[in-house]
Amino acid sequence: MKITFADLPYRADALEPYYSAQTVKLHYEKHHRGYFDKTVKAITGTKFEDMSLEDIVRETARDEKYVGLFRNAAQLWNHDMFWRSMRPEGGGRPEGALAQRIARDFGGYESMLEALKDCAVKQFGSGWAWLVFRDGKLSATATHDADNPLVDGATPLLALDVWEHAYYLDYQNRRPEYVAAFLDRLANWRHAAEMLETVTGAGEVKEKRRAAR
Ligand code: MN
Repeated sequence: MKITFADLPYRADALEPYYSAQTVKLHYEKHHRGYFDKTVKAITGTKFEDMSLEDIVRETARDEKYVGLFRNAAQLWNHDMFWRSMRPEGGGRPEGALAQRIARDFGGYESMLEALKDCAVKQFGSGWAWLVFRDGKLSATATHDADNPLVDGATPLLALDVWEHAYYLDYQNRRPEYVAAFLDRLANWRHAAEMLETVTGAGEVKEKRRAAR
């Protein structure tokens, strides 16, 4: 079996005061763990058993036979991405090739933040807000429930969980406050830049740096 329950990339209290240790523990040890356990149970002894998580998600998306497996596998993938989308002392402005693309595709950092906040706050009910790279361009998007942009051929760079379980203990019904804290204080733009580099390649980044001189 290739799927794993990935370690948290920091201590449970590392994101305080913006995201409490209590929320991290509940979210990671109960919700995230639950999606992992249910995915393992669903794939054991099936053709999915030795597939990568990405392949399981893509293979089961929008197939009525696999609705339950898709939901758990996609949530497992989404949560792996969510924890890596935050870091202690996060937020601030992205740098390098990511910053250049943000300027080109959104018109600047502030416009990108507004677009992400809008997606996260307006998503009705459970879901996710994302910064994605698709067809050579960055954009902000939202998905319902477990759905993710991977299944539409996009590369997610940043994942913001707007299910109530993600913020209710710390922010109650104040989703906009949670979204602002996530983007301004916790967002891991270095990880987003690394994800971008996996699809654009280091060659293009070097070329851009040369061109910028
Ligand atoms: Mn969650």
